[in-house]
Amino acid sequence: MIIKKYKKFFPLKRYGQNFLVNQESIQNIVKIINPKKTQALLEIGPGLGALTQPICEFLDKLIVVEIDPNILLFLKKCIFFYKLQVYCQDAVSFNYRNVLCSKYKYIRIFGNLPYNISTSLILHLFQYIDIIQDMHFMFQKEVAKRLVAMPGEKYYGRLSIISQYYCNIKILLNIPPQYFKPIPKVHSIFVNLTPHTNSPYFVYNINLLTSITKNAFQNRRKILRHSLKKLFSERDLIKLKINPNLRAENISIIQYCQLANQLYKKNK
Ligand code: SAM
Repeated sequence: MIIKKYKKFFPLKRYGQNFLVNQESIQNIVKIINPKKTQALLEIGPGLGALTQPICEFLDKLIVVEIDPNILLFLKKCIFFYKLQVYCQDAVSFNYRNVLCSKYKYIRIFGNLPYNISTSLILHLFQYIDIIQDMHFMFQKEVAKRLVAMPGEKYYGRLSIISQYYCNIKILLNIPPQYFKPIPKVHSIFVNLTPHTNSPYFVYNINLLTSITKNAFQNRRKILRHSLKKLFSERDLIKLKINPNLRAENISIIQYCQLANQLYKKNK
């Protein structure tokens, strides 16, 4: 059925339109999301409805954010369209607070994301972390690896630190390229991000954490004494029990938080 739909629609590369066509993985994803009528769910990039249709079967209403007006013309002809609350907007600048009504305190967000927006979208969504119950996204394999990477690992970097600061992240499914039409060049991974209820991390000012990680990872090969010299003296680092001769990839998230809070106190 999905393949027939796909044949009638010319996918746009610039919107990352690689549609999920494998029924087994669609069913697995729906089972994992486990939508309930009592919850507010929002899908980013419904496309031709591969996930939208089966998810709608469990709901009275589904909010969708889709950038491509042609996709919306297509969805208008689908039997489940009456259940959709549609926003034809860019998900990367969308105000997620606007969709909440007095009935719901939190939203559950999901989507098979276009690869070109996934990092900027995740960072945008963290601004709404206080109203997000959980997120389930399909990412390019490398992005998923960056999300869950630990200190010392190849993929550990700014995205790992900022994402793990906000969320507990789990890799759930590996999805091969041939499960999509058109077939992408990359492998995909389906991921769950759940905001911490009791966070192990705390910073006074998230912007300081962002700028410290930016400086530290600008050149991964540089030791901290050099990469952070505009922000911290060698003595500052030693005081926090951080070896100035280590590289950005060797510092834990807790240590980055300590650095951010030290800077906050210094600038107060
Ligand atoms: N959910 C469908 C599926 O699984 O087959 C489609 C997934 S396709 C990879 C990505 C979808 O996101 C497309 O429908 C595309 O038009 C939409 N999209 C791309 N960029 C977007 C953006 N910035 N904001 C909202 N939707 C976007």
